[in-house]
Amino acid sequence: MSPTAARPAPYPARVLGIDVGGTSMKAAFRSVHADGLLGAAEHPARRPTPSGAETADALGAFAAELIAAHGPVDAVGIGAPGIVDDVAGVAEYSVAPAWADVPLRALVAERLGGTPVALGHDVRLGGLAEGRLGAAAGSRDYLFVALGTGVGGMLCLDGVPRLGPHHRAGEIGHVVIDPGGEPCGCGQRGCLENFASATGIAHRHGAGATAHEVARLAAEGDPRAGEVWSQAVEALAVALVGAITLLDLDVIVVGGGVAKAGEQLLGPLRAAVGARLSFQRPPRIVQAALGDEAAVAGAALIALDLLPSPGVPPVAHTAAPMAARTESKDLIS
Ligand SMILES: [Zn+2]
Repeated sequence: MSPTAARPAPYPARVLGIDVGGTSMKAAFRSVHADGLLGAAEHPARRPTPSGAETADALGAFAAELIAAHGPVDAVGIGAPGIVDDVAGVAEYSVAPAWADVPLRALVAERLGGTPVALGHDVRLGGLAEGRLGAAAGSRDYLFVALGTGVGGMLCLDGVPRLGPHHRAGEIGHVVIDPGGEPCGCGQRGCLENFASATGIAHRHGAGATAHEVARLAAEGDPRAGEVWSQAVEALAVALVGAITLLDLDVIVVGGGVAKAGEQLLGPLRAAVGARLSFQRPPRIVQAALGDEAAVAGAALIALDLLPSPGVPPVAHTAAPMAARTESKDLIS
C-alpha cells in the first residue's frame, strides 16, 4: 500500500452529538452509513445543565451514561455557548453555563477513555447543520442568523464555514445598528441583539410581555407591539444588507425562537431588505428547517468529521473540524 493509497473507512460507524445549553443538555446518537452519510437521530436525551464548574463533569458523565446505555460510538461532538475555540477545544467564556477557559474537549475525551471528541460553538453548529442537512443545503455562500435569547450567526463562504483567526466570525448580533442606543452586554451600544433578540424585543416592549406575546399582539394590531416588531425587522434588515453588500450571499437562514413567527417576520424582512438593496442581488431569505435540533445535529456532524471520509486518509482530530468537510451532499439519508 503506497502512502497515498486510500485507507478503508471504518463504516458503518456511530457518533454522539451533545448540545450544552444554558438550561439543558440535549443529545442524540446517529449512525454513519457506508457512504459516509448520517442517519436519523436515535435515542434523544435531555438533562438539566448544572451551573458553574460542575458543568464539565456533568457533561462527561452524561456522555458516558448514554454510551453505557446505548452502545459505543466512534466519535463525540459537543456544542457549547458563548465564546468557543473550536480548534483548541476550549470553552473560553459563557454566562450560562458560567465558565471560563474550560478545556472541554480534553476533559470529555479523558472521561470517555480516549474516544475522539470535537467541540464547536452552538450557533455555528446550528448553521453547519442548516447548510448540510437543512434550509441552506446546496448553498456554498450563506449566513445563518439565530434570533434567540441573544442573536448569533454563522457564516459559510465558498463552501467553508468561517471561524476567523480568533474564532469570533459570524457575530452579527453585535453589529451596531444605533451607535447612541442602549448599552449591550458586549460593551458596545445599540447592537442588533438589543433590537431583534427575544430578550431585546421583550425589553423594548415592556409590560412583562415575552417576544412571543409581542409577536401575537403585533399580529392583532396592537400599535406598541407593532412598532417594536417593525423596529426588530428594520434593525435586522440593516445588518443583513451590510452582510449582503460585503459578502454577496446566496441564502440567509433565519432561526431561533423569534423566527418561529415565520412569515410574520420573514415577509416584512424580505421587503425591508429588498427596499434597501440597489446594485446588490437579493439572497433567498428562509426560515431555519431544523429548529431546536440544529445544534445537536451540528454536533453529530463535527463528530462525523473526525472520522475519515470513505476513501480518504484520516485527518488529525485536532484540525479545525468545521472546515474538514463541507460538501453539501452530506444529507440525512
Ligand atoms: Zn453587543
